[in-house]
Amino acid sequence: MDAVEIFDTTLRDGLQVEGVSASVEDKLRIAVQLDLLGVRYIEGGWPGANPKDIEFFARARDELMLTTSTLVAFGSTRRPKGKVDDDPTLRNLIEAGTEAVCIVAKSSEYHVTEALKTSLDEGEAMIADSVEFLTANGRRVLVDMEHFFDGYKSSPEFSLRALEAAVVKGATHVVLCDTNGGSLPHEVEAIVADVYRHIGADVMIGIHCHDDTGCAVANSMAAVSSGARHVQGTLNGLGERTGNANLTTIIPNLQLKLGHQCLPEGRLERLTVVSHHIAETLNRAVDPQAPYVGSSAFAHKAGLHVSAIARAKDAYEHVDPKLVGNGTRFVVSEMAGRATIQMKAAELGLTMDGPAVNQVIDDLKRLEHEGYHFEAADASLELLMRRATGWDQEFFRVESMRVITDEMATGGFNTEATVKVWVGDQRHVYTAEGNGPVNAIDTALRRAVQRAYPHLERVHLTDFKVRILDGSDATGAVTRVLLSATDGERDWTTIGVSPNIIEASWRALEESLVYGLLHAPTAPS
Ligand SMILES: [Zn+2]
Repeated sequence: MDAVEIFDTTLRDGLQVEGVSASVEDKLRIAVQLDLLGVRYIEGGWPGANPKDIEFFARARDELMLTTSTLVAFGSTRRPKGKVDDDPTLRNLIEAGTEAVCIVAKSSEYHVTEALKTSLDEGEAMIADSVEFLTANGRRVLVDMEHFFDGYKSSPEFSLRALEAAVVKGATHVVLCDTNGGSLPHEVEAIVADVYRHIGADVMIGIHCHDDTGCAVANSMAAVSSGARHVQGTLNGLGERTGNANLTTIIPNLQLKLGHQCLPEGRLERLTVVSHHIAETLNRAVDPQAPYVGSSAFAHKAGLHVSAIARAKDAYEHVDPKLVGNGTRFVVSEMAGRATIQMKAAELGLTMDGPAVNQVIDDLKRLEHEGYHFEAADASLELLMRRATGWDQEFFRVESMRVITDEMATGGFNTEATVKVWVGDQRHVYTAEGNGPVNAIDTALRRAVQRAYPHLERVHLTDFKVRILDGSDATGAVTRVLLSATDGERDWTTIGVSPNIIEASWRALEESLVYGLLHAPTAPS
């Protein structure tokens, strides 16, 4: 099967998502990750739209050493009735200094006459002039045909004229965009096939889908089946509204299921780590249920199934998780039998004898009765299993912890925590303020331990969930705290349960740090 080019627009379209903002530094770091993954093109942003993107392209020229990907600047065609020579958008595109540029062009009759309020001839000339100007300036030009599918459905004639205008002037790619994201796979398949019949021999046809019908991945694949060989999308499907086409799903679908090479040899196994790394940089966790890269993508629960999968992994997994850099995971709860515990031990690389397995089963039953829930806290489960083999953590020993919250005379609250820990024969005392007790004890403990283990600087909390479990039995209400953390490569969750919310949080925090130290690249063994 032919190769399919991957064009990543995480740094432009992807950043339209609500609640995400990336600094220039973040954008440069993400570009490095995308290059490691090996996408063909990285769209860096719209130079001129904001000062950040101008700075990004300026710094990219000096600092970004891409080995696989080509950086692309994004812009638009010239203005209606304007001239290419004095058009600020086109000038910014040239000044960005990239080898390739991508411009958005109106390819729907309705948008030309109603949004631009200009004639169809002028709409066509805007595309032709802009492509001509950019190619004359030595740029490879890709054209994003905005609202293409909607335009084609109501007026195919103008949409095709728009494509031809770009092709005649030397665009290397015309990218058909489902800008409003409302199309369905059978429509995309038929329209791309029409387009392919018209111009497929002269130009690379691309596809750019949004996920408003939940079909962005399916639509992109439908376009490929009709002859598109260039797919635009974002890592983790980031993007405005319901998001863009998710490249972390499309790439393995095309490469593993259909045999279209999307990434250079040996790069697909970086998919999971790059997906999590980018999520981390943008402070936007990967959906645990995301296909291929989610933490639950290859997780198995329930006894029967788990013992069967030990015998024949491929009977329950649609692809080998290693191909995308993920792994099989066994989910363990109080219902777990011996087989599940043994499988989990093998997954963790632990050797467990019969008494140790029995110990784990007893501990799980007792703790889950108290309100623990280990399915959701893999890291705490691992520590519990290690302890059953006689292991105990020697990273640090807590002497004491104290947290005080005062209401100030001036109004407002002040919280301060003091933590005393021993690392070997060194005593570390640290006091920290926080916006609340959990924040204060987290900061104090982390800083105290961090003096001995600088790696912890990279570890930080990503989520903190509290649930009050109703006390139908004599113990009364207890608090369950689930705490998620990351070091940028690995994500983990720990749990603490206690009638006292501070104690529950403290247990989860302590285990979170122990787990981070246990799996640190330089962790003492
Ligand atoms: Zn878009």
